[in-house]
Amino acid sequence: MSNIAASIITIGDELLIGQTIDTNSAWIAKQLNQQGIDLRRRVAVGDEWQPIINALDDELKEAQLVIITGGLGPTADDITKPLLLHYFGGAMRTDARVLEHVKGIFAKRNRPMLERNLKQAEVPDTCTVLFNRLGTAPGMWFEREGKIVISLPGVPFEMVAIMEDEVLPRLLDRFESDAIIHHTIVTVGEGESFIAEKIQSIEESLPSHIKLAYLPGAGMVKLRLTGKGSDEAALNELIVGYKNKIAEMLKDIVIAMSDMPLERVLFEQFMLKGKSLGLAESCTGGYIAHHLTQVPGSSAYFKGGIVCYQTSIKENVLGVSTDTIMMSGEVSEATAIELAKGAMKVLDVDCALSVTGLLGPATDEDKEPVGTVWMATASMDKVVSRKFVFHYDRIRNKEMAVSMGMLMIYKYISDVN
Ligand code: AMP
Ligand code: MG
Repeated sequence: MSNIAASIITIGDELLIGQTIDTNSAWIAKQLNQQGIDLRRRVAVGDEWQPIINALDDELKEAQLVIITGGLGPTADDITKPLLLHYFGGAMRTDARVLEHVKGIFAKRNRPMLERNLKQAEVPDTCTVLFNRLGTAPGMWFEREGKIVISLPGVPFEMVAIMEDEVLPRLLDRFESDAIIHHTIVTVGEGESFIAEKIQSIEESLPSHIKLAYLPGAGMVKLRLTGKGSDEAALNELIVGYKNKIAEMLKDIVIAMSDMPLERVLFEQFMLKGKSLGLAESCTGGYIAHHLTQVPGSSAYFKGGIVCYQTSIKENVLGVSTDTIMMSGEVSEATAIELAKGAMKVLDVDCALSVTGLLGPATDEDKEPVGTVWMATASMDKVVSRKFVFHYDRIRNKEMAVSMGMLMIYKYISDVN
């Protein structure tokens, strides 16, 4: 059966002025995609009658399914419910189950109920109520001429609950659609143009129902193969075949055969090789340690880190010599190496990474240019140092340093037999 086309309309002035980031669309898009429903457009509109009507008219021209979020609150700026009553006709009725639920919520919170809260239980009699177990505003499901319009609250966790409880199961029942399968390869150290060049022959041989996407990140590129088809098992086998061919061609730069963050790759490698890790972080301020500890169980290999922000900590805790700092500077290869060696000793680990840099925005004329970061890894048999110069603002420079630091760690562990 052919796939249905869907649109998402998010409502709220806050979305248009950049005060709230529209995470609802991204979440819904992912769910629809997993169900094989094609999302054709995402639209954001303000809390205004006519623009919302126009958006609905426009989307319903081509989409069979439109999901709306936002504008269901109890205040005057929330107009989605009266608007949908107007759009689909009918009259308001009070839904007994929702009313009980709303009263229950207020009783539990020990708050007086206002007239406007009771109104939350009112719904157009032309819709099916989508129960909101986490909040007072119910979702609504309308149908006309074979098209479906679903209205959900803007509060993300309420929207998610209604989607999971009420919407997705109904959509699954209603639309038997093609399977969509994604497979991802994670590569590091080369840009997307280089990769595209290398795998050009495979890319050109891909059948039309399998697509390849390049998703570049800091120091890494993810390659995602996506396929669509009615026979899920056969499709999967075909995609895996292409994936393995691509991975073979890129074998020097592939670090994972599924979509996982670098910290997860490091966790798996260190567990496999049985090594321990420590950090001496100056300019990244513990941000690498934060990433590593996002993975449950990371204490099995990551012993800890020292945030050696001031010179005195570099000297007194990690044993960097005053001479080195005087002669070479805090942001230098020599300091990075002494920091890594010091951390290896102090933390008693198989490998330590050090990071020392100048992230800006202030410059110091005697020192390296803003964005200069020196890193080193030290282990029993090897010290590797590297200089980076980042050209962004302070925050982005820090994020780049984190990615590159984790890649330095990856380089160490992938060389261990
Ligand atoms: P509403 O249903 O319009 O009353 O939305 C309630 C709250 O949900 C808003 O104040 C926003 O903080 C949040 N919200 C609304 N729309 C979105 C969206 N598309 N993505 C993320 N949060 C949202
Ligand atoms: Mg709103």
